[in-house]
Amino acid sequence: MTEYAIEISGLRKTYAPTRRTSGKEALKGIDLNIRTGKVFGLLGPNGAGKSTLINILAGLVVKSAGKVSIWGFDQDVNPRQSRASIGVVPQELNLDAFLTPRESVEVQAGLYGIPKSARRTDEILARVGLADKADAYARSLSGGMRRRLLLAKAMVHSPPILVLDEPTAGVDIELRRMLWDYIRELNEQGTTIILTTHYLEEAEEMCDEIAIIDRGLVRAQDSTQNLLATMDSKTLVITPESPVSQLPALPSAVRSEIRPDGTIALTYSRARLRAQEILDVLCGSGIVLRDLTSEEPDLENVFISLTSRHDDPET
Ligand code: ADP
Ligand code: MG
Repeated sequence: MTEYAIEISGLRKTYAPTRRTSGKEALKGIDLNIRTGKVFGLLGPNGAGKSTLINILAGLVVKSAGKVSIWGFDQDVNPRQSRASIGVVPQELNLDAFLTPRESVEVQAGLYGIPKSARRTDEILARVGLADKADAYARSLSGGMRRRLLLAKAMVHSPPILVLDEPTAGVDIELRRMLWDYIRELNEQGTTIILTTHYLEEAEEMCDEIAIIDRGLVRAQDSTQNLLATMDSKTLVITPESPVSQLPALPSAVRSEIRPDGTIALTYSRARLRAQEILDVLCGSGIVLRDLTSEEPDLENVFISLTSRHDDPET
C-alpha cells in the first residue's frame, strides 16, 4: 500500500478560450498529497477549481502542466493503472436515459474490462438502495436515485480510491444521511475517500483532513481538528436588561458589536483574555446582563479568513 493515495505537484489547468467563453486559468499550481485511508475534503467556494481538479484525476480533463500520481501510478506513465485505481462520482447527473441501472452498471464494468463472472452488479445496486429499480429506465429515476446510480457505477471495479464531487449538493436530508453513512462504511473497509463540498458542515462532519482551495490554489491543508484549533476565538453574546447604544472601552483584544437584535457580541482570543475581564468592564459601566450565551468558532471562520477577497483584486 502506498503512503499517499494521491500525489499532485505543480498542477495547472488553463481552459482554452472558445467562441462563448474567454480562456480561464482554473488551477494555478496545486501541490497536494492525500494520505491513504483518509476521508479527505476539498473545500472551496464555487469556481475555486474543485471540479477541474477532480476531473483531471478522473481523466476527463487534460492538465496543462504538473504531475499527478494515483495509487503510486504516474498518470502520464501508467495511465491504465492509475485509472483503474480510482472511481469518480461526477458533479453532473449525466446518465444515458435509455439504460436501466442494471445495464448502466454492466456497461461500466465492461469499460473496465471486468469479466462477466467477476461482476457484482446486483450486490452493488442493492448496496446503494437501487435493487428494486434495477430494471427501470434511468429517465424515470429521481435526482437522488441518479446520484446513487453514479455512485454504483464508480464502484464497479472496486477502486481503492473513491472521489465524490459535491455528493450531497441538492439532495434531501435523508439521502444525505444515507450517503454519509455509506461513505463512512466504505472508508472503514479501507477505501480512501476524497470529496469536494462547499458545505462547511459536511466537511466538518465527514473529513479527517481538509484542503481549502480558492481561485486555483490550495490556501490551507491540515487535519480538520487543527484547522479548527487555529481559531482560538470565542464570542460572548449578551442580552442587556435595557437597550445599549454605546459600549464602554473594552480591552483592545476584544472585537465588539451591537447586533441588530440588540444583543452585544464580544469576540476575543481565549489565549489572551479571560471572560471575567470583559464582564467586569461591562458590569462596571452599569450594563445589566439579562442573559449570556457563547458561540464557538467553526470551520466557517477558518474559511472566511482564508478566502476573504480583500487581498486579491481578482475574483
Ligand atoms: P468548482 O468545482 O470549484 O466550482 P470549477 O473547477 O468547476 O470550480 O471551475 C473553476 C473555474 O474554471 C471557473 O472559473 C469556471 O468557470 C472555469 N471552468 C470550468 N470548466 C470550464 C470549461 N470547460 N471551460 C472554460 N472554463 C471552465
Ligand atoms: Mg464543482
